[in-house]
Amino acid sequence: MRPLIAGNWKMHGTLREAVTLAEAVRAGAGGISAELLVCPPAPYVHPVAVAMLGQPVAVGGQDCHLAVKGAHTGDVAAPMLRDCGATYVILGHSERRADHGETDAVVKAKAVTAMAHGLTPIICVGETLAQREAGQAEAIVRAQVAGSLPDGFAAAGGVVAYEPVWAIGTGKTPSEADIAAIHATLREAVGGTTRLLYGGSVKPGNAVAILALPHVDGALVGGASLVAEDFLAIARAA
Ligand code: PEP
Repeated sequence: MRPLIAGNWKMHGTLREAVTLAEAVRAGAGGISAELLVCPPAPYVHPVAVAMLGQPVAVGGQDCHLAVKGAHTGDVAAPMLRDCGATYVILGHSERRADHGETDAVVKAKAVTAMAHGLTPIICVGETLAQREAGQAEAIVRAQVAGSLPDGFAAAGGVVAYEPVWAIGTGKTPSEADIAAIHATLREAVGGTTRLLYGGSVKPGNAVAILALPHVDGALVGGASLVAEDFLAIARAA
């Protein structure tokens, strides 16, 4: 299965910085066998997609609404992202689950809408530190997968990202054995064709080891995706 290396730019940067970063990723993408994806903030999706035109780097959104249109001030609709050149959308990131109270049911409804409008969902799951320490990590991700993935997800090429909440932006990562154990659980839950990404403090220095683990089919990269050389180094490790 072709690895996917996805960059989540979160709420960072100016328009100029976003386009400069996109151009740097584009310039370094040649010869990388992994699929590359960048997910800029919503206002920058279109200019970044224009910068990537004709290049082997996909563009994605960081969220979409579960409705196709309507009175939802501040939200972004799946068809709008598609219209702006996105082909992927991250859904259920732990920051959205925490900041916006997104439940598994909401994430699932968003995934249905995304798939119906030509976007491949990347659904994020992962336990908090308290849940890990209580020995609940596997049960939590199992429940999140059961509640968040809609019918037809695998057939639509949907992607699952395992992102332990306590590893995001902290510089901490689970042990390789712990990542492998969760990914084995996920593989059992989602079947053989769904790509499983690991996310949480992936850096050039740990990417080779993490990406070599069984059932790790790529990475969802936050902080390191804001530096083109780091993002490309991670992609070369896949
Ligand atoms: C993320 O937020 O998806 C992420 C993995 O962030 P970081 O790489 O910075 O931990």
